[in-house]
Amino acid sequence: MTDDIADVVEAELIALSGALTEPADRECLRCFLLRMISEFGCDGTHRWTVRWRDVRAPRATELLGKLAELGAGCDCEALLNVFPEYPPTRRVLPCAGQPQPGSAVPCDLRVLRRTA
Ligand SMILES: [Zn+2]
Ligand SMILES: [Zn+2]
Repeated sequence: MTDDIADVVEAELIALSGALTEPADRECLRCFLLRMISEFGCDGTHRWTVRWRDVRAPRATELLGKLAELGAGCDCEALLNVFPEYPPTRRVLPCAGQPQPGSAVPCDLRVLRRTA
């Protein structure tokens, strides 16, 4: 019993510490959330937002409060209510990059479409 719980916790820790859940250099919050939610889903909390913030914008202590004000009670709601603009595609596009560290402004994916 306790071994099972330890295994689950360990698996979770591996998932959370893995490179897969690491926000890429210059990856914007919107693209990171989309990538994580399409991989792992939303658990009704801001866990991916917190992960992004800790790596990319550790000083953005207001971020969760701002998202909540904009109608985001969890990660998937942030995508729906805060970052609704996304090119019409069914796949996850690579992030175009947010050059300003700590900025939660989404990248401009139209740049990618123009050069594609
Ligand atoms: Zn959600
Ligand atoms: Zn992006």
